[in-house]
Amino acid sequence: MLETTKQILSDLIAFPTVSVDSNLDMIAYLAARLEDCGAKAQIFQDETGKKANLFATLGPEIDGGIVLSGHTDVVPVADQDWTTDPFVMEERDGRLYGRGTCDMKGFIAAAIAMAPNFAQRVTNMPVHFAFTYDEETGCIGAGHLVEALKESNIKPRLAIIGEPTSMRIIEGHKGCFEYSTRFQGLEGHGSAPDLGVNAVEYAARYVSFLLGLKAKLTTMAPASSRFEPPWTTVNVGAIRGGSVHNVIAPKAQVDWEMRPVQASDTSFVKEALKAYCENELLPAMRKVYPDAQISTEVVGEVAGLIPKDSNEARKLLMELTGANGANLVPFGTEAGLFQSMGMDVVVCGPGSIEQAHKTDEFLSLDQLAHCLELLENLNRRISEK
Ligand SMILES: [Zn+2]
Repeated sequence: MLETTKQILSDLIAFPTVSVDSNLDMIAYLAARLEDCGAKAQIFQDETGKKANLFATLGPEIDGGIVLSGHTDVVPVADQDWTTDPFVMEERDGRLYGRGTCDMKGFIAAAIAMAPNFAQRVTNMPVHFAFTYDEETGCIGAGHLVEALKESNIKPRLAIIGEPTSMRIIEGHKGCFEYSTRFQGLEGHGSAPDLGVNAVEYAARYVSFLLGLKAKLTTMAPASSRFEPPWTTVNVGAIRGGSVHNVIAPKAQVDWEMRPVQASDTSFVKEALKAYCENELLPAMRKVYPDAQISTEVVGEVAGLIPKDSNEARKLLMELTGANGANLVPFGTEAGLFQSMGMDVVVCGPGSIEQAHKTDEFLSLDQLAHCLELLENLNRRISEK
């Protein structure tokens, strides 16, 4: 099984599925392999027609079953000085090198390699495969896939997201919500502040209000929160605007993020900011300049994976791996989106996040073998269900 998996992984690495580029060839390859063992495969293209999600099912078309999920895109290799061609997999010293080996084509290769075995056993419980696009740019593909699944009324029960966790079971991570807020004021001479609308000054007031919310959030963490730190964090990453000392700045931009530990915190922040802009900042700006604007662009809103007291996926994986607990991680994944569909979800996959996105990314053969062992144990379990 390891040899088959290595061959599939080598095929997958050869598809240069950097997020900006098409993943269609890889999706077609995965769909063909799954159909060969009897899966019903559905390809959902995005609006550009350049990218697609794949959702495939082995076994009966009933509610329940387990989703094995991975993203097909990889981060760029530009500006990285690789020892060998990043899109040609190389085996050296017990490691498989190549862009995407660890994040996260290794897991996909293992799932595909096991598909013929799953096909023998899935009489009572379906095994689903969800392979998405544009995870690295904000889980765009998974968002669309979840919408498509809701529409087609497919209701899997459990999901494993095979991001690299060194095969540890992960039951939670914070969300990551990123925004750019832009201020349009009115230019003028610095000596006559009342005749212009200084976008930089309004941006400063906005940031100051946001920092007030940031402080408030530290008191709002659920008592049971195991995150580090336990509350929802806010970071103002960049402020841009204006040109020189004596000109009233007509434009400014604030780039900021929050990493929520619970969904209610995101609505708390968004509603407070909206009210502050509508009731205080905009009326003041528009008194001088009726066309003044504040607009917020959503760069990405990746829901967190909220740890739950009861989680059947965690229970199953603990049984299958012999692990005695589950952990949290600081990085985001598509897991929260699947959780939002009512599934029990864990993140568990081969390779270390330490190697993800880096020059000479690799996956150790040992990790890949562990992943296959988990999937083989899962396969034995499927027919018992
Ligand atoms: Zn990843």
